[in-house]
Amino acid sequence: MAREISKEEAKQVLMKAEEDGLVHCSSNHKGDKMFICNCCGCHCKALAFITKHDQPGLIAQSNYYATVDADTCEGCETCTDRCQVDAIQMKDEVASITHDRCIGCGLCVSTCPTGSISMIHKQPDSLSHIFADDNDLIQARAKDTGKAFPFT
Ligand code: SF4
Ligand code: SF4
Repeated sequence: MAREISKEEAKQVLMKAEEDGLVHCSSNHKGDKMFICNCCGCHCKALAFITKHDQPGLIAQSNYYATVDADTCEGCETCTDRCQVDAIQMKDEVASITHDRCIGCGLCVSTCPTGSISMIHKQPDSLSHIFADDNDLIQARAKDTGKAFPFT
């Protein structure tokens, strides 16, 4: 089901995923036990689920959101095709991003032909907590659901 790959090959996989318009999704903790999924909104159940929500950006939190420079946007709509969570609408032929829908993936930035989209770092009081390791994250989730960990 799996094979070990080098860091270089892993980077190539991520670059291909980026080119193909897939969202890099990882768990929010430090340490060496990590995964990175590369997801599209039509096949990934998690991404499809949050896209149905009014504010996907409040569920899949990132410390960044995208913003458009309306003065340089040429209205090509490339970004609306790239966004997997329907965060970008065209208004008067200019792209406009709904911040509560943006999950900060950056897919719209890398292909804007006029460089009109930037990622903005959120204010300190809006930043997501980064857990120390996977155990710390699971403990916090267990506490949120009122269950003890390890689950019984
Ligand atoms: S990709 Fe860039 S130029 Fe094209 S609509 Fe989006 S912001 Fe405007
Ligand atoms: S960064 Fe761009 S592509 Fe990603 S969710 Fe936000 S608006 Fe959509």
